Amino acid sequence: MGSMSDPGKSAAERLATQVQYLKGVGPRRAEMLERLGLRTVADVLFFFPRDYEDHTDRRTIADLEEGSLQSVRGLVEEIELRDIAPGRNMLGMLVRVGNDHLRAVWFNQPFLFSQYRRGQEVLVSGKPKLRGLMWQMVHPRVTMLGEDEPEATGGIVPIYPLTEGLQQWHVRRMVRAALDGYAELLEEAFTEEFLAAHNLTPLAVALPEIHFPTGPKSLEKARRRFVYQELFILQLALAIKRQQQRTLHQAEPLEATARIDARIRRLFPFELTAGQEKAIAEIAADMASTRPMNRLLQGDVGSGKTIVAAYAMLLAVAHGSQAVLMAPTEILARQHALTLKRMLAASEVRLIELVGGLSAGERSRVLEQIAEGEIDLIVGTQAVIQEDVRFKKIGLAVIDEQHKFGVRQRALLRESGGDPHYLVMTATPIPRTVTMTLFGDLDVSTLADMPPGRQKIHTYLPTEQERERWWSFFSKKLQEGRQGYVVTPLVDESETVAAKSLEESYEALANGPLEAFRLGLVHGRMKPEEKDAVMAEFRSGEIQVLVSTSVVEVGVDVPNATLMTIESGQRFGLAQLHQLRGRISRGRFPGYCAVFADDPSEEAAARLKAFSSTTDGFKLAEVDFSLRGPGELFGTRQHGLPPFRIADLSRDKAVVEEARRDAQQMVDADPGLASPSHARLRRMMLVRYGKALDLGDVG
Ligand code: ADP
Ligand code: MG
Repeated sequence: MGSMSDPGKSAAERLATQVQYLKGVGPRRAEMLERLGLRTVADVLFFFPRDYEDHTDRRTIADLEEGSLQSVRGLVEEIELRDIAPGRNMLGMLVRVGNDHLRAVWFNQPFLFSQYRRGQEVLVSGKPKLRGLMWQMVHPRVTMLGEDEPEATGGIVPIYPLTEGLQQWHVRRMVRAALDGYAELLEEAFTEEFLAAHNLTPLAVALPEIHFPTGPKSLEKARRRFVYQELFILQLALAIKRQQQRTLHQAEPLEATARIDARIRRLFPFELTAGQEKAIAEIAADMASTRPMNRLLQGDVGSGKTIVAAYAMLLAVAHGSQAVLMAPTEILARQHALTLKRMLAASEVRLIELVGGLSAGERSRVLEQIAEGEIDLIVGTQAVIQEDVRFKKIGLAVIDEQHKFGVRQRALLRESGGDPHYLVMTATPIPRTVTMTLFGDLDVSTLADMPPGRQKIHTYLPTEQERERWWSFFSKKLQEGRQGYVVTPLVDESETVAAKSLEESYEALANGPLEAFRLGLVHGRMKPEEKDAVMAEFRSGEIQVLVSTSVVEVGVDVPNATLMTIESGQRFGLAQLHQLRGRISRGRFPGYCAVFADDPSEEAAARLKAFSSTTDGFKLAEVDFSLRGPGELFGTRQHGLPPFRIADLSRDKAVVEEARRDAQQMVDADPGLASPSHARLRRMMLVRYGKALDLGDVG
């Protein structure tokens, strides 16, 4: 009980007390806790349960029913471990409840034996089954009552993340000790007015409640408070980040005057959609300013992001600056270069395509021209451009098919000639809560509409038995003059997965169902020249069917291609499938997409079903998100942010919006968070996000 009786220490110092000094912890357990990231008392206080078990349905033996989760309170009367077969054992516990008994059994969990002892008071929770005359629960959860676990946990019981050697009751007891000894030292982060205005439970109430709930409603309110707090603090950090981006860096203002605007538009081969117009207006407004643009352009596959980027690039060039377009793959870089060259045929804009395959001499000549400012527009892969390009005067960097552009990459570009404006374009839409959090430091433009004249795409999930029918349909469309793709997932040599290797499927098709047609093969390990040659032949129609790995996923734009076969579809993510399908919605003919799947898991089946039920990328992004959660692509770590402790972006959508609005309001009113009433929030924000978001010293 050292903590409270230590008058010399500040609250902060006491909250920083090492866990091992908490009642019942000690050095050995402290080591286990370290593995969970728990070092101090404060860590323990904010170590939230990952789930709860509802033990509120208390029964007597006479009231038990089969079917639902029920709890019984009693005394351990007997406990016995015995072998039931070689390598199998059973732990049986007889619990006396008044004059009746309940049997609890566990199979192959002998380690539980040492945890219980006769005479112990326990709460046993599980689904009861009547076995003969005796009620039995298989693998129930047992909560120790009595001295270790006071009755407070009797209702809704917290389930904490564990690590080897640690039991739920260890953690519960430790949390209880931390709450009893230290919770009152915590300071409330929000003012009373703020709590009231935003319907938030005060910390002093919410903290005990989230650990040891007194009821479902009050638990939900407590949870809301912590979710809100976590998201609010992130949003404060993001708002400050946006503010800093506006003030700390200087870019050249590149205004779209009426003359420049007209000169750019003359080059465009079609009328822009309303969405494209809106995005261009937003981009032009950003670029007219001395603060560097930091904009995310998101739109569904085929929504026409390229032309929007072209506008921005030509705007930079019109001001005598250079613009660079970076693509993730060579095929896509080549494609962009082609599109732009075609568009710029009648202009004086000097464009260079910087991909692999140049001779050393050519390459250094090109790099010199760029450095001298003799080239206006540079198109290439990210890798190549970041590696060795030095610009004369870079006005705009466009990053295509990429979700984010890192701090380090920015620094590289900056080194090579000033702070440019940035435009990042996504491959597919991003769920709204994700743009508001993980992309919250960017401004967002959304292309919500599609260019006119888009044809419908039909999506099928044929069975193996229907394969022949699909190929005959595929062939018929080829005979009508259309082209198509066959995509197989990339399979690592070492993988024993039964997915067909690319060459095999190529051979099988060329000598089988598609033998009457001209087939081409493209994959990531081919040399750039080889890839180019194949793509050019496909574009010109010489090749009718392109057999490939998912390298065609990004950006390939061949309007006459209307057929897509995806093999082993269970191995692709929803966004990837959507990208693939996006290859065949580009012209005036309807598209047909078939996805074959071998033995899909339940989740994969749900994914494929969603995929076949809509072509709306915004909807699919939301479905994907709710099926998978943030996943790898949208995980906090991926973005360099610390993981959430309690917030869940798909579950807590409404709170994300609310927190974002409120945080922006606070930063608008108090830009440096300098007011004393914001000091604590400001400190919490810096501790958590200062480094990840490179916030420096705010204020
Ligand atoms: P994405 O957003 O997937 O990058 P693209 O920019 O490649 O889409 O555009 C897809 C196709 O739509 C291209 O063939 C492009 O020329 C065409 N396109 C884009 N905008 C329009 C428009 N406003 N009217 C007609 N066709 C358009
Ligand atoms: Mg694109």
